[in-house]
Order: sequence, then C-alpha cells, then structure tokens
Amino acid sequence: MDYCLRLDDACPQMNAEKWKKMESILDEYKIKPIVGVIPENRDPDFVSVADENFWGKACEWQKKGWTIALHGLHHELYFHESRGYYQLSHSRKTEWAGRSSTEQYEMLKQGYRILKEHGLTPTCFFAPCHTYDKATVKAIALMKTEGDSMYISDGYALHPYQRDGVYFLPTLFDTPHKLPMQGAYTFVYHPNNMQEQDFAYLEDFLKKYASLFRSADEIMEKYDSVKNQGILGKIIELVIYFLRGIKGSKE
Ligand SMILES: [Zn+2]
Repeated sequence: MDYCLRLDDACPQMNAEKWKKMESILDEYKIKPIVGVIPENRDPDFVSVADENFWGKACEWQKKGWTIALHGLHHELYFHESRGYYQLSHSRKTEWAGRSSTEQYEMLKQGYRILKEHGLTPTCFFAPCHTYDKATVKAIALMKTEGDSMYISDGYALHPYQRDGVYFLPTLFDTPHKLPMQGAYTFVYHPNNMQEQDFAYLEDFLKKYASLFRSADEIMEKYDSVKNQGILGKIIELVIYFLRGIKGSKE
C-alpha cells in the first residue's frame, strides 16, 4: 500500500501562513508530498501579497525531497464544455484543453523553463481542474523525448499506468482515508482553502498511517515497468467517472 499527498497551487501569492502550517505537520511526520507549483500565477483567486522569498522556499522543499510538479502555466481558467477531455471530468473550466498541440507544447516549455530558472526541476505535471486533452499528453510525450520527462498526477486507477507514452500516477480522492484495496493512492489538498478542522483531520490520519506514505517519485520508481492502462483500466476509469458524476460535479 502506498499513500501519497499532493499540495496544489503553490505560488508567490499563496496563503503563506496556511502553507507553513501544512509544512510543519508534514515535517513532523516526515511526509514528502508532491507540490504543484504555478510557474507564473495569473489566477485572481490567489490574492495574498506576493512573497519575495517564495522561490527560495520552493527550493528548500525540493531539497527536502518533495516532488516538484509543474502545475499549469498561469492557472488562468477559461470556460470549456465538459467534454473532449483526456481524463473524463465534469469540470467546465480549463487552462489547457482545446488548444493546439503546438501551443500546449510551447506553454509546457515556458512553464518548465520558468521553474528551472528558479532552481526547480519538475518531474511531474498536473493541469488546473484536472482538465487537459490529448494534445497536452502528446506535448508531454514530446518533452520526454527531449529529456524533460514528467509523469502526470491524474487519472482514475488503483496503480500507476502508462497511456500514449506517458506515465500516470492516479488521483482518486481528495480527503485521505484508509482504503481496503492494495494500490497507490494520492490524496489532494489545497492548502490555500484549508480550515482548522482540515488540518486536525490530516494530523489525525498521519498519526495512524504516516508509515504508509511515500513520495511520488519513490512510488514511480517502484512501478518502474508501468503497464499500459488496458481495457480493464479503461472500465475502472469509466465506473469511477460516473460515480463521481452522481456524487455531484466539482470544479
Ligand atoms: Zn490548481
């Protein structure tokens, strides 16, 4: 059983106080999360005064063994019909889907370069709102052939899998909970929006299960020969997608 924690929306305009609280909890339990860093934030939802020390802080995370993920480019969201996505999603917002493969490749290159300039090397990518399309995956596969390899933190499955030449580390749930089936599970947090009770719940969970957590890079190394998604994987993906739809769509 492998659990992994993912923190979304790190940028200079993040809520530094909440992120600090998250970091101290993770340090206490020696958890190394995936941290999704927005290369050049333009999302009006993240409104705190820009932290001048942000990039230095991010480099410290990398040194501690946190997995650095490229999280979009500007995190600027557009309206999109909730179809045509690579990974089924009910969301009507996207930064990536609908653009040409060339444009998405340029966006990826730009984001990757910005993180590199700040001393970060992303090994993972994930799109805002889980929304991206075939062209995004094609562009990531192309980056891989150039030596800038990233797996995608997304997808409905119990284990990492491979599709169209790109590796996926699935994300089934947001809130951590004990799971009956063996697998690799990523739990997703948005520290900017966390409340006191969310921190308390997380701490309580880590008290019991911290030993089951690995960093995303460690998990991906373990699944070195990642299998293709296959028909069964596709069926699992569809079932989970429809169950999520019944539970209510999330943006
Ligand atoms: Zn985000």
